[in-house]
Amino acid sequence: GRSRGNMRILVVGLDNSGKSTLIEHIKPNKASTFEATPTVGFQVQEFAKNNLNFTVIDMSGQSRYRTLWEHYFCNVHAVIFVVDSTDRVRMCVAKEELEEVLKHDEVQNSGMPILVYANKGDLPGSMSRQECADELGLSGLNDEQTPWHIEKSNALVGLGVEEGVNWLVQTLQ
Ligand code: GDP
Repeated sequence: GRSRGNMRILVVGLDNSGKSTLIEHIKPNKASTFEATPTVGFQVQEFAKNNLNFTVIDMSGQSRYRTLWEHYFCNVHAVIFVVDSTDRVRMCVAKEELEEVLKHDEVQNSGMPILVYANKGDLPGSMSRQECADELGLSGLNDEQTPWHIEKSNALVGLGVEEGVNWLVQTLQ
């Protein structure tokens, strides 16, 4: 089963959605993070916790790099998508990026779970989980084909982060 061995988890989302802030609550203490050289053109961070290997990628405006980061989908077991739930202007851009993720063969063919953090839930005007799910087009997803879950989070203090990861780990087992 999938419960044995290392799991690869891809963390993606637009810039400023809160990925870096959020993963600080997943990383083990004093974890050394590998950061790719800026010459690559986009930021990649990698770290491991228990048997989970996290790869964090900034997606925004990087469509010209898409072919470069496409290969990060290989052997991925789950995707975490971080969205700024206060950024109504870019919600449709986030939707497009999520659609790119969902279109991917690896996602289509393997029943890969997708965890969405509706981040910045502490801020006034943040959208509810339901609103985010609707705006991102998650509500229309076939849960049998792509198990998905949306968790409201406050990455500044780590609220909701563990709950999300717990869902992911349970779903991967
Ligand atoms: P990234 O570009 O996706 O890595 O986003 P960052 O982690 O750098 O966060 C972007 C900005 O949003 C920073 O100023 C963070 O302090 C802030 N931020 C991130 N998460 C939250 C949150 O849950 N609540 C609030 N109020 N601010 C957040």
